[in-house]
Amino acid sequence: MSDKFQAVVIGGGPGGYVCAIRLAQLGLNTACIESRGSLGGTCLNIGCIPSKSLLNLSEEFSKVKNLSNKGIEVGDVKLNLPKMMKSKEKAVTVLTKGVEFLLKKNKVTYFKGTGSFKSKKEIIIRDDKNKETIIQAEKVIIATGSLPVSLPKIDFDEKIIVSSTGALNLEKVPQKMVVVGGGYIGLEMGSVWSRLGAEVHVVEFLDHITPGMDKEISQEFMKILKKQGIKFHLQHKVEKVTKNELGAVVSTSDKDGNKKDFECDVVLISVGRKPNTNGLNLEKIGVKIDEKNRIKTSKAFQTNLDNIYAIGDVISGPMLAHKAEDEGIAVAENIAGQSGHVNYDTIPGVIYTTPEVASIGKTEEQLKEKNIQYKIGKFSFMANSRAKAIDDAEGFVKILADEKTDKVLGAHLIGPHAGELIAEIGIAMEFGASSEDIARTCHAHPTFSEAVKEAALSVDKRAIHS
Ligand code: FAD
Ligand code: NAD
Repeated sequence: MSDKFQAVVIGGGPGGYVCAIRLAQLGLNTACIESRGSLGGTCLNIGCIPSKSLLNLSEEFSKVKNLSNKGIEVGDVKLNLPKMMKSKEKAVTVLTKGVEFLLKKNKVTYFKGTGSFKSKKEIIIRDDKNKETIIQAEKVIIATGSLPVSLPKIDFDEKIIVSSTGALNLEKVPQKMVVVGGGYIGLEMGSVWSRLGAEVHVVEFLDHITPGMDKEISQEFMKILKKQGIKFHLQHKVEKVTKNELGAVVSTSDKDGNKKDFECDVVLISVGRKPNTNGLNLEKIGVKIDEKNRIKTSKAFQTNLDNIYAIGDVISGPMLAHKAEDEGIAVAENIAGQSGHVNYDTIPGVIYTTPEVASIGKTEEQLKEKNIQYKIGKFSFMANSRAKAIDDAEGFVKILADEKTDKVLGAHLIGPHAGELIAEIGIAMEFGASSEDIARTCHAHPTFSEAVKEAALSVDKRAIHS
């Protein structure tokens, strides 16, 4: 007799493991299947965590080199890349082991192996020795995440032509790195290697970086990154990448058809990710996918088969860990008979560069497109006393509120700790707050959060410090 579970989650990333824990908390006998040999998915193993570790370490390296400008004399500052990589790996190991502990603590059965459907209620698990186990599942939640995409006829070797996975593991600092795609990965990993000494060129197809982000923030962001030494080539299309004995040549053409070759030792291709449904056998059981290979789901995360659900990067919506986690919780609650839901209007997006960039709700461009009348409140970190005190005052806070009701519709920040500051606005938006609610809330002094309060005051043209 094969083991029988009330719920089986395929994939142990932030969507899957969080879902499995919540299902177990709600009293369901739950299993979680993960193929990579360690839990935490893309996020903990080859995504959010290692990238944030390297962003932090490279920022510390770059800051220490410039401390003498602030009256702190340090000796020769040298990079020990293998040690830095070890520090990053330690962060990953501690966190992935932590997730394993959490599954055990919540009595979730963890299967190491690749899951695929035998039927809509039977899952085959194949381990790394090719041994098969079959388990029965009343409900199945697919949380198999996403994979990097490349460009036509360009394959990742993860040494010279790398995806984010290779870019997190380079053995030496490239002299010259070409980053194809000016989005989340390109700008975070481009920043890391630029701070560690590489000459970084970003080749972007569009006429601006970070598509989808509020245009004013995107422009300010590029200006700041340029000052840090990153070079941008907008409206450039990559035609081919040819490897040679020194590295690679990236051949591009611009919007007028002018050709330009970039010689480099490493090319990072960061032009997006695709949903991962590989090997699940979805065709056999008849689970429907859309034209972008995403599993189709209802608002309750149910697929076209009544006992099968899907969440995270493998369905539509932003490919973000916190979005996957919230969907994991919502689907678990729905399965347990509760009313789980995700508010897609308040999912923050953060780019962990220096300065950080954070965004929530509607952009100005989206409000214009929808013909919604709005007011803008803006406040520069140049006028924030904490930011000035520590000489970290680039960027601004921008709050968009409804013209008539003053309800906060969106907020866009570039500046110190923007990724933390956005949480306050997220809560305000969840409670349907007005900009005046934020403006009348007492914020500690001196803190960066006072810039949020001042931006809220500025919606009503009554900022005090500008
Ligand atoms: P995943 O994390 O991809 O997990 C899916 C898991 O399923 C994987 O571990 C995979 O091995 C497993 N799996 C697949 N198929 C099977 C199968 N058949 N059987 C068993 N297991 C299977 N997001 C943020 O919010 N913040 C960030 O700072 C951030 N930084 C990122 C940096 C990088 C470099 C990258 C690449 C991504 C980053 N992301 C970030 C995105 C984030 O990692 C994803 O949105 C998130 O991991 C999606 O979670 P998920 O659970 O849907 O899928
Ligand atoms: P992205 O969608 O963020 O950016 C891709 C960029 O590549 C865009 O600017 C796009 O215009 C450009 N592009 C597309 N095709 C191109 C081409 N042929 N030539 C040149 N440019 C081209 O994708 P990404 O950076 O690969 O990241 C994938 C996803 O991973 C992100 O969308 C995000 O959801 C997630 N992620 C999040 C974080 C974070 O939350 N801090 C960090 C890393 C990754």
